[in-house]
Order: sequence, then structure tokens, then C-alpha cells
Amino acid sequence: MKNENNIINDASFHTHTFRCKHATGEVIDYARNAFEAGSRTLGISDHVPLPDDRWPEARMAFSELDDYTDAIEFAQKALPDLKIFKGMECEYAPEYHSYFKDELLGERAYDYLIGAGHYTPLAGTWINSFENLKTASALKAYSTYLAQTMESGLFAFIAHPDLFGCSNTHWNADLAACSRDIFQAAEATKTPLEINGYGFRKPPIQSTEGLRPRYPWRPFWEMAANYDIQVICNADAHRPKDVLANIKDAKCLANAFKLEIIDHLPTPGSDTKKT
Ligand SMILES: [Zn+2]
Ligand SMILES: [Zn+2]
Repeated sequence: MKNENNIINDASFHTHTFRCKHATGEVIDYARNAFEAGSRTLGISDHVPLPDDRWPEARMAFSELDDYTDAIEFAQKALPDLKIFKGMECEYAPEYHSYFKDELLGERAYDYLIGAGHYTPLAGTWINSFENLKTASALKAYSTYLAQTMESGLFAFIAHPDLFGCSNTHWNADLAACSRDIFQAAEATKTPLEINGYGFRKPPIQSTEGLRPRYPWRPFWEMAANYDIQVICNADAHRPKDVLANIKDAKCLANAFKLEIIDHLPTPGSDTKKT
């Protein structure tokens, strides 16, 4: 909502660039759009490059890390009245702990990292979480993986925790158990969960409830109300024009279940509750 100074409350801490191979636009394009829309805070969080260049299909090469960092710093200088946070969206694995902590958050002074379960470790391999979270064992592996990600203490929040909405058409007891485990870990580690606006822009799926977004999935967020957790509402923009897209829809969902929304960048593990 705009106030008399034309500044809006919406801020997104989840933004991609062309480097991840499935988004368009450079940091400065997203920054200009956010600023022109009235936002004064923006987080840039492209898919993290990994030192061994693992999972190259949906992220920049490790050799592009300097270029990405420079692109954020260029935008910070070009738009000094927009506070731009330097971030990455990351898959956690213990072998990358030191890289995330000592290199990205340490030497390179990144402001924050997002934890995300695009892949889930299961039975010695990694399955694609967008397609394969259909069985009780896969869902258990997903919640265990997100809990491990939160317990690392590295991540400001968890992106789209309800990603399993992509591979299930109706709610069931296995999904509820998986969700409970995620909420308990979020509560114990004080890690906010993201209501992700990108899900509203993806093609809906046909379910027993009729057409619905793949995520956010309402029964998950309805359950969230039973836990002492916080939520953060982001656009997850993959095109500059979407820099603040669907944040209002995400906030509307949070408000429907009286969830506590944070609109600032949380510090991992810190208690940001106002009361
Ligand atoms: Zn993601
Ligand atoms: Zn993303």
C-alpha cells in the first residue's frame, strides 16, 4: 500500500537474475522496478553457484560468482536510496557448510542466505522435490532435510516449504505429518517460513479442491497457525516486472490464518518477535 510519500510497505527478499538460466533480467532491472514501484528495500537471491558446479542446469557457474556480486554492488551504488541486500537461495548439504558460512556470509559479506529444498536427499540420491514428494518416505525425507537446513543456523528463512503441493493433488495424513515436522523445526530453530508468490503465477493444478496454485497450499498454512512461527511474503521474481508480484496475495493468505508476517530480513536463529 502506498503512503503519502509514495513508499510502499512491500519488500521482496527473493529475486533471481538471468544467470540461473530460467530467469531474465539483471539486478539493476529488478532494483529499478522495485524502486519505481515505491519499495525501498530489496533482496537479491539468485540460485547459489556451488564450488563443484553441482546441479548446473538451474544456477550460474561458480566462475560467475564475482560477476553476480559485482552486479549487486553496481545496483547498490546506482540506487543509493534503495537498500539492496546481497543474498543467495541455497540447497544445504554439510559439505557446503563452510562455503556458505565462511566464504559467502564471511569473506564475501553476503547479507543473507535462503534455504530451499528444490532437491531432497533420499536413499543415497537426490530426488527432484517439484515432482517426487508423493510417498510417505519421500515426504519424511523432505521434512528431515528442511529441518537439517534450519538447524545449520545459516539461513534467514526457508523458501516455499510447501513445495510438495506440486506433486500431490489432495491433502492427506502423510502431508500433515511432513508439515508438522517442518513447523516443529521452524519453531525450535526460530526460522521464518516463506509464503512464496511465484506459486500464484505458475499454471494451477487440478485437484480435489478444484483448480488451485501448486503452492502456497492453503492446508499447510492453515496448520501453520497452530505453531509459534513467523512467515515472510516474497515475490520470488524471475522477470524484472514481477519484482513485487503476488506479495499481496501471499499476505492475504497469511492474514486469513492470522499468521505473524515479518517484513524485514531476519537474522538466523534470532527471536524477532515484537512482544
Ligand atoms: Zn526456490
Ligand atoms: Zn527462487
